[in-house]
Amino acid sequence: MESPAAYSLLPFRFKKLGAQYLMVSEGGEHAFLDAPHFFETVTGQLTTESPIYRDLVARHLLREQHDTSFLPIVAAQVRSRYSPSLQGVALHIVVVTLRCDHGCPYCQVSRQGCSKDGFDLPASMVAPIVDRIFESKSLILTIEFQGGESLLAFDRIAEFVEAISERNRNERRSIRFVIASTLHHLTDEILQFCMQHDIYLSTSLDGPKALHDRNRPLPSGSSYDRTVAGIERARRAVGKDRVSALTTLTRLSLSQPRQIVDEYLSRGFSSIFLRPLSPYGFASRTAKALGYSVDEFLTFYKTAMDYVFELNRSGVYIEEAYFRLLSQRVLSPAATQYVDLSGIAGVGSSVLVYNYDGDIYLSDESRMLAEMGIKDLRLGRVTEPLQAFADSAAFEVIDDELLHLDQPGCSECAFLPYCGTDPVERLLVRRRTGETRIAGAFCRRHMGLFEYLFGFLADRDSDVTAIALSWLRPTGRAVGRTNPAQVAA
Ligand code: SF4
Repeated sequence: MESPAAYSLLPFRFKKLGAQYLMVSEGGEHAFLDAPHFFETVTGQLTTESPIYRDLVARHLLREQHDTSFLPIVAAQVRSRYSPSLQGVALHIVVVTLRCDHGCPYCQVSRQGCSKDGFDLPASMVAPIVDRIFESKSLILTIEFQGGESLLAFDRIAEFVEAISERNRNERRSIRFVIASTLHHLTDEILQFCMQHDIYLSTSLDGPKALHDRNRPLPSGSSYDRTVAGIERARRAVGKDRVSALTTLTRLSLSQPRQIVDEYLSRGFSSIFLRPLSPYGFASRTAKALGYSVDEFLTFYKTAMDYVFELNRSGVYIEEAYFRLLSQRVLSPAATQYVDLSGIAGVGSSVLVYNYDGDIYLSDESRMLAEMGIKDLRLGRVTEPLQAFADSAAFEVIDDELLHLDQPGCSECAFLPYCGTDPVERLLVRRRTGETRIAGAFCRRHMGLFEYLFGFLADRDSDVTAIALSWLRPTGRAVGRTNPAQVAA
């Protein structure tokens, strides 16, 4: 009889999924073990002849006696997973106006009527914001213009793009511009400018016409018709790969998973982001009519994904952007630039929001929270240098929520190496309930999504892993936040 091998367990997390035990290393490698093998492993009874011994050593879940070669490898894996939050602020969101002609009930930014004065970012703010952007040490910068309807203040966007491009002649950073817009207000001049400056356009398409128009009512006619026309016009001018769309899911959307996917296919998109409703801003006040539980979202999501996988099996390429991101976090050691899935919250470290009124916020959610009257996460004014914000009271408020490693609930979670954190939600939950363990929708949603993904990985007969891997090829997409379809691999 073989005697047990001389090995030590390396730090790992585990979770029982069905009949199997999922083991996850500190660097994010994973293995599935049946119960006998799992208990043999953790009690030091594994022999070198065991069929899983070499595999567990290779995945840095075990180390052979006196072997230290794992150290630099695991250190590099951990560094890579946290790196997006350590390289300086890469995403700068500029809110150029609050004006908008839509009446979306889920709007989160207290939109204002098109003809109202005082809700555009003043021209005097352009130079200080450009200074703040270049104070970031990140070599890769994404500048995303948002509204309201951002194209109602296109002149301001143009001023930014020209000032940033001019400054970048010396700075030589890698810069992407993204305009988030309904695309209703495109003109030949705007498209010409977008072409000249290699600007990406990101729009909202919530599904088939009836659903889109219910979600995004426009007093002057069909929002859907104008958005679809805008997508086609923009594609003709700047190219198909420069125009992306994302969907916001309301309660109305939940009964139409296949129809929403079909709408994206019929519009020529090969990527869809099934984005749940954010709990902040206006949406929380209308939550009863529009909202749904995490369980309802997950049921919808899985039905939609069944269809997405079915389409891929039949030779139709369409990816779901968030499933791709989660798969990338699990299957690849390479860092993703999507700040919501970086273990250190991106707030203030990899994203900043410059509001139309000259205030700077830690994140988009922080700005939405301010619309609810909670202004604690306002960093300061755009006229102050970034360095001055290091001592901001906003960081004191949110300090405990920034890193998920030390959070009760997260610290022992098997999915921690792949997951992120939503510090704004944590702050709200803590204030409302005094709860310190994770109890929010972010955690419950991600717990469900990771269990869903690992269910496929555990099943050797499933072809979903191969489908997900086919989505991970390098795409060269822009790095954005609001739309993971724009996140570079
Ligand atoms: S947020 Fe939830 S799913 Fe994510 S690491 Fe923390 S406990 Fe796990």
